[in-house]
Amino acid sequence: MVRIFAAIALILSLASCQTDSSGGGGEATVSTQNADDTRVAKYLFGAVTTPSPGSSAPYGFYSAGCQAGAQALPETGPTWQAMRLSRNRNWGQPVLVDYLQDLSAFAATQPGWAGLYVGDMSQPRGGPMASGHASHQIGLDADVWMLPPQRLNLTREERESISSIQTDRTDGAYTNSSWTPQHEAILREAASDPRVNRIFIFAGAKVEMCANATGDRSWLHKIRPWYGHNFHFHVRLNCPQGARYCEGQDPIPPGDGCADAQQWVNNILNPPPPDPNAEPVEPRGPVTMADLPGQCLDVLGSD
Ligand SMILES: [Zn+2]
Repeated sequence: MVRIFAAIALILSLASCQTDSSGGGGEATVSTQNADDTRVAKYLFGAVTTPSPGSSAPYGFYSAGCQAGAQALPETGPTWQAMRLSRNRNWGQPVLVDYLQDLSAFAATQPGWAGLYVGDMSQPRGGPMASGHASHQIGLDADVWMLPPQRLNLTREERESISSIQTDRTDGAYTNSSWTPQHEAILREAASDPRVNRIFIFAGAKVEMCANATGDRSWLHKIRPWYGHNFHFHVRLNCPQGARYCEGQDPIPPGDGCADAQQWVNNILNPPPPDPNAEPVEPRGPVTMADLPGQCLDVLGSD
Protein backbone atom coordinates (compact mmCIF):
# COMPACT_ATOMS: atom_id res chain seq x y z
CA MET A 1 0.00 0.00 0.00
CA VAL A 2 2.77 2.40 0.91
CA ARG A 3 4.47 1.66 -2.38
CA ILE A 4 1.27 2.32 -4.29
CA PHE A 5 0.80 5.69 -2.61
CA ALA A 6 4.42 6.56 -3.28
CA ALA A 7 4.10 5.58 -6.92
CA ILE A 8 0.97 7.67 -7.33
CA ALA A 9 2.70 10.63 -5.76
CA LEU A 10 5.76 10.26 -7.99
CA ILE A 11 3.75 10.05 -11.14
CA LEU A 12 1.79 13.13 -10.27
CA SER A 13 4.88 15.07 -9.32
CA LEU A 14 4.95 17.70 -12.02
CA ALA A 15 3.56 20.70 -10.23
CA SER A 16 4.06 22.13 -6.79
CA CYS A 17 2.10 20.65 -3.98
CA GLN A 18 1.72 17.38 -5.81
CA THR A 19 4.43 15.27 -4.28
CA ASP A 20 3.77 16.17 -0.71
CA SER A 21 2.04 12.92 -0.01
CA SER A 22 4.53 10.09 -0.34
CA GLY A 23 5.52 8.09 2.64
CA GLY A 24 2.18 6.77 3.73
CA GLY A 25 2.07 4.32 6.55
CA GLY A 26 -0.03 2.72 9.18
CA GLU A 27 -2.91 0.35 8.79
CA ALA A 28 -4.60 0.13 5.45
CA THR A 29 -8.36 0.36 5.72
CA VAL A 30 -9.29 -0.41 2.16
CA SER A 31 -12.35 -2.59 1.90
CA THR A 32 -13.18 -4.67 -1.13
CA GLN A 33 -16.70 -3.56 -2.06
CA ASN A 34 -15.25 -1.35 -4.78
CA ALA A 35 -12.44 -3.69 -5.83
CA ASP A 36 -13.52 -3.80 -9.48
CA ASP A 37 -14.62 -0.19 -9.78
CA THR A 38 -12.41 1.21 -12.54
CA ARG A 39 -14.12 4.60 -12.76
CA VAL A 40 -11.64 7.50 -12.57
CA ALA A 41 -12.14 8.95 -9.12
CA LYS A 42 -11.14 12.56 -9.82
CA TYR A 43 -13.98 13.07 -12.28
CA LEU A 44 -16.56 11.68 -9.87
CA PHE A 45 -15.39 13.64 -6.84
CA GLY A 46 -14.78 16.75 -8.90
CA ALA A 47 -18.39 16.75 -10.07
CA VAL A 48 -20.00 16.77 -6.62
CA THR A 49 -20.65 20.26 -5.33
CA THR A 50 -21.97 19.56 -1.83
CA PRO A 51 -20.68 17.66 1.20
CA SER A 52 -22.15 14.33 2.21
CA PRO A 53 -24.68 14.51 5.04
CA GLY A 54 -24.09 13.08 8.48
CA SER A 55 -21.16 13.03 10.82
CA SER A 56 -17.69 14.08 9.79
CA ALA A 57 -15.02 11.50 9.02
CA PRO A 58 -11.83 11.27 6.98
CA TYR A 59 -11.45 7.97 5.12
CA GLY A 60 -8.08 6.67 3.96
CA PHE A 61 -4.80 8.46 3.44
CA TYR A 62 -4.04 12.07 2.54
CA SER A 63 -3.34 11.03 -1.07
CA ALA A 64 -5.89 8.21 -1.37
CA GLY A 65 -9.17 8.87 0.38
CA CYS A 66 -12.23 11.02 0.79
CA GLN A 67 -14.15 12.84 3.50
CA ALA A 68 -17.67 12.62 4.89
CA GLY A 69 -19.55 15.44 6.57
CA ALA A 70 -17.16 18.18 5.50
CA GLN A 71 -17.55 21.78 6.63
CA ALA A 72 -16.83 24.86 4.55
CA LEU A 73 -14.36 27.43 5.69
CA PRO A 74 -16.58 30.51 5.50
CA GLU A 75 -15.55 32.49 2.44
CA THR A 76 -14.71 35.52 4.56
CA GLY A 77 -14.12 35.83 8.28
CA PRO A 78 -12.69 38.42 10.64
CA THR A 79 -9.13 37.31 9.93
CA TRP A 80 -9.24 35.31 6.70
CA GLN A 81 -10.52 34.99 3.17
CA ALA A 82 -10.79 31.82 1.11
CA MET A 83 -9.25 32.29 -2.33
CA ARG A 84 -10.17 30.90 -5.77
CA LEU A 85 -13.78 30.27 -4.76
CA SER A 86 -14.57 28.96 -8.24
CA ARG A 87 -12.63 25.81 -7.41
CA ASN A 88 -15.00 24.98 -4.53
CA ARG A 89 -12.13 23.60 -2.48
CA ASN A 90 -12.68 25.45 0.78
CA TRP A 91 -13.94 22.27 2.46
CA GLY A 92 -12.43 20.24 5.25
CA GLN A 93 -12.96 18.29 8.40
CA PRO A 94 -14.15 20.47 11.32
CA VAL A 95 -10.70 20.33 12.90
CA LEU A 96 -9.17 21.87 9.79
CA VAL A 97 -11.72 24.69 9.64
CA ASP A 98 -11.10 25.43 13.32
CA TYR A 99 -7.35 25.29 12.90
CA LEU A 100 -7.28 27.71 9.99
CA GLN A 101 -9.44 30.19 11.84
CA ASP A 102 -7.14 29.99 14.87
CA LEU A 103 -4.00 30.39 12.78
CA SER A 104 -5.46 33.34 10.92
CA ALA A 105 -6.23 35.07 14.22
CA PHE A 106 -2.59 34.77 15.14
CA ALA A 107 -1.50 35.99 11.71
CA ALA A 108 -3.61 39.10 12.21
CA THR A 109 -1.38 40.04 15.15
CA GLN A 110 1.62 40.32 12.81
CA PRO A 111 2.61 43.71 11.37
CA GLY A 112 1.37 44.03 7.80
CA TRP A 113 -0.90 41.01 7.98
CA ALA A 114 -4.67 41.42 8.22
CA GLY A 115 -4.94 37.64 8.60
CA LEU A 116 -4.53 34.85 6.07
CA TYR A 117 -5.47 34.15 2.50
CA VAL A 118 -6.35 30.47 2.42
CA GLY A 119 -5.87 28.47 -0.77
CA ASP A 120 -7.01 24.98 -1.58
CA MET A 121 -8.31 22.73 1.16
CA SER A 122 -10.37 19.78 -0.13
CA GLN A 123 -13.35 19.21 -2.39
CA PRO A 124 -16.76 18.90 -0.69
CA ARG A 125 -16.36 15.14 -0.45
CA GLY A 126 -12.58 15.12 -0.73
CA GLY A 127 -11.12 12.58 -3.11
CA PRO A 128 -8.66 13.08 -5.95
CA MET A 129 -8.77 16.37 -7.86
CA ALA A 130 -8.85 16.90 -11.59
CA SER A 131 -6.11 19.54 -11.32
CA GLY A 132 -3.26 19.99 -8.87
CA HIS A 133 -2.48 18.12 -5.66
CA ALA A 134 -1.91 14.43 -5.12
CA SER A 135 -3.04 14.90 -1.53
CA HIS A 136 -5.73 17.19 -0.02
CA GLN A 137 -8.14 14.22 -0.28
CA ILE A 138 -9.41 13.68 3.28
CA GLY A 139 -10.09 17.20 4.53
CA LEU A 140 -6.94 17.51 6.60
CA ASP A 141 -4.65 19.46 4.22
CA ALA A 142 -4.66 23.18 3.44
CA ASP A 143 -2.53 25.61 1.47
CA VAL A 144 -1.86 29.02 3.00
CA TRP A 145 -0.75 31.85 0.76
CA MET A 146 2.56 33.60 1.34
CA LEU A 147 0.98 36.90 0.31
CA PRO A 148 0.37 39.07 3.41
CA PRO A 149 -3.29 40.12 3.22
CA GLN A 150 -3.60 43.88 3.16
CA ARG A 151 -7.39 43.72 3.34
CA LEU A 152 -10.11 41.13 3.80
CA ASN A 153 -12.80 42.55 1.57
CA LEU A 154 -11.64 41.08 -1.72
CA THR A 155 -14.46 40.42 -4.14
CA ARG A 156 -15.02 37.03 -5.74
CA GLU A 157 -13.40 38.35 -8.90
CA GLU A 158 -10.36 39.66 -7.07
CA ARG A 159 -9.95 36.31 -5.40
CA GLU A 160 -9.67 34.73 -8.83
CA SER A 161 -7.24 37.23 -10.29
CA ILE A 162 -4.88 38.11 -7.43
CA SER A 163 -1.77 35.97 -7.20
CA SER A 164 0.29 35.05 -4.20
CA ILE A 165 3.93 36.09 -3.98
CA GLN A 166 7.03 34.06 -4.58
CA THR A 167 9.29 33.86 -1.54
CA ASP A 168 12.22 31.81 -2.88
CA ARG A 169 15.10 32.15 -5.31
CA THR A 170 17.45 29.68 -6.97
CA ASP A 171 14.83 26.92 -7.22
CA GLY A 172 14.04 26.94 -3.53
CA ALA A 173 17.61 27.01 -2.24
CA TYR A 174 17.18 30.43 -0.64
CA THR A 175 14.52 32.84 0.51
CA ASN A 176 14.17 36.09 -1.42
CA SER A 177 13.42 39.65 -0.29
CA SER A 178 9.68 38.89 0.03
CA TRP A 179 10.38 36.53 2.91
CA THR A 180 9.87 38.27 6.26
CA PRO A 181 10.11 37.65 9.99
CA GLN A 182 6.31 37.57 9.95
CA HIS A 183 6.36 34.51 7.72
CA GLU A 184 8.62 32.83 10.24
CA ALA A 185 6.41 33.81 13.16
CA ILE A 186 3.32 32.46 11.43
CA LEU A 187 5.04 29.21 10.51
CA ARG A 188 6.29 28.82 14.04
CA GLU A 189 2.78 29.24 15.36
CA ALA A 190 1.41 26.93 12.68
CA ALA A 191 3.87 24.15 13.48
CA SER A 192 3.57 24.49 17.26
CA ASP A 193 -0.09 23.48 17.19
CA PRO A 194 -0.60 19.88 18.34
CA ARG A 195 -3.25 19.39 15.67
CA VAL A 196 -0.53 19.67 13.01
CA ASN A 197 1.24 16.60 11.66
CA ARG A 198 3.68 18.42 9.35
CA ILE A 199 4.10 21.49 7.15
CA PHE A 200 5.66 21.50 3.68
CA ILE A 201 7.74 24.43 2.49
CA PHE A 202 10.70 24.98 0.17
CA ALA A 203 14.04 23.89 1.58
CA GLY A 204 15.62 27.34 1.65
CA ALA A 205 12.89 28.59 3.98
CA LYS A 206 13.50 25.81 6.45
CA VAL A 207 17.25 26.48 6.43
CA GLU A 208 16.53 30.16 7.01
CA MET A 209 14.23 29.39 9.93
CA CYS A 210 16.81 26.99 11.37
CA ALA A 211 19.35 29.82 11.30
CA ASN A 212 17.00 32.35 12.88
CA ALA A 213 15.13 30.30 15.47
CA THR A 214 15.82 31.22 19.05
CA GLY A 215 14.68 29.59 22.26
CA ASP A 216 12.52 26.50 21.81
CA ARG A 217 13.40 24.92 18.47
CA SER A 218 11.15 21.87 18.78
CA TRP A 219 8.61 23.29 16.31
CA LEU A 220 11.17 23.01 13.50
CA HIS A 221 10.65 19.24 13.62
CA LYS A 222 7.34 19.54 11.80
CA ILE A 223 8.59 21.90 9.09
CA ARG A 224 9.49 19.69 6.13
CA PRO A 225 11.39 20.71 3.00
CA TRP A 226 9.62 19.87 -0.23
CA TYR A 227 9.45 20.80 -3.88
CA GLY A 228 7.50 23.92 -4.84
CA HIS A 229 5.74 25.43 -1.83
CA ASN A 230 7.26 28.82 -2.49
CA PHE A 231 3.98 30.71 -3.14
CA HIS A 232 2.18 28.92 -0.33
CA PHE A 233 2.94 26.59 2.52
CA HIS A 234 0.98 23.40 3.08
CA VAL A 235 -0.36 22.38 6.47
CA ARG A 236 -1.27 18.75 7.13
CA LEU A 237 -3.20 17.87 10.25
CA ASN A 238 -3.11 14.64 12.22
CA CYS A 239 -5.99 12.22 12.02
CA PRO A 240 -8.57 13.52 14.53
CA GLN A 241 -9.24 11.60 17.71
CA GLY A 242 -11.56 8.69 17.07
CA ALA A 243 -11.23 8.82 13.27
CA ARG A 244 -10.69 5.08 12.98
CA TYR A 245 -10.63 4.95 9.20
CA CYS A 246 -8.14 7.77 8.85
CA GLU A 247 -4.70 6.50 7.95
CA GLY A 248 -1.86 8.42 9.57
CA GLN A 249 1.47 9.15 7.95
CA ASP A 250 4.78 7.60 8.97
CA PRO A 251 6.42 9.61 11.77
CA ILE A 252 8.91 12.32 10.93
CA PRO A 253 12.48 11.31 11.88
CA PRO A 254 13.42 12.73 15.29
CA GLY A 255 15.29 16.00 15.59
CA ASP A 256 14.89 19.45 14.10
CA GLY A 257 15.60 18.28 10.54
CA CYS A 258 17.88 21.22 9.90
CA ALA A 259 20.78 19.13 8.56
CA ASP A 260 18.35 17.35 6.25
CA ALA A 261 17.07 20.67 4.94
CA GLN A 262 20.61 21.86 4.33
CA GLN A 263 21.23 18.67 2.35
CA TRP A 264 18.16 19.48 0.22
CA VAL A 265 19.67 22.87 -0.51
CA ASN A 266 23.04 21.34 -1.33
CA ASN A 267 21.33 18.96 -3.74
CA ILE A 268 19.53 21.86 -5.43
CA LEU A 269 22.79 23.73 -5.90
CA ASN A 270 24.82 20.67 -6.88
CA PRO A 271 22.43 17.95 -8.04
CA PRO A 272 23.78 14.48 -7.33
CA PRO A 273 24.07 12.05 -10.26
CA PRO A 274 21.05 9.78 -10.75
CA ASP A 275 21.03 6.65 -8.62
CA PRO A 276 21.95 3.76 -10.97
CA ASN A 277 20.10 1.34 -8.68
CA ALA A 278 16.86 3.29 -8.55
CA GLU A 279 13.83 1.26 -9.50
CA PRO A 280 12.06 2.66 -12.54
CA VAL A 281 8.64 4.07 -11.77
CA GLU A 282 6.01 2.09 -13.59
CA PRO A 283 3.53 4.22 -15.51
CA ARG A 284 0.15 4.12 -13.90
CA GLY A 285 -3.27 5.32 -14.87
CA PRO A 286 -5.33 7.79 -12.89
CA VAL A 287 -6.63 6.86 -9.45
CA THR A 288 -9.76 4.75 -9.73
CA MET A 289 -12.51 4.16 -7.21
CA ALA A 290 -10.88 0.79 -6.51
CA ASP A 291 -7.78 2.60 -5.25
CA LEU A 292 -9.77 4.37 -2.53
CA PRO A 293 -11.21 3.00 0.71
CA GLY A 294 -14.55 1.29 0.16
CA GLN A 295 -16.32 3.88 2.30
CA CYS A 296 -15.63 6.44 -0.40
CA LEU A 297 -18.23 4.81 -2.59
CA ASP A 298 -20.83 5.60 0.08
CA VAL A 299 -19.48 9.09 0.60
CA LEU A 300 -19.77 9.76 -3.11
CA GLY A 301 -23.29 8.42 -3.40
CA SER A 302 -24.96 9.65 -0.21
CA ASP A 303 -27.48 12.50 -0.22
ZN1 LIG B 1 -0.99 21.65 -0.65
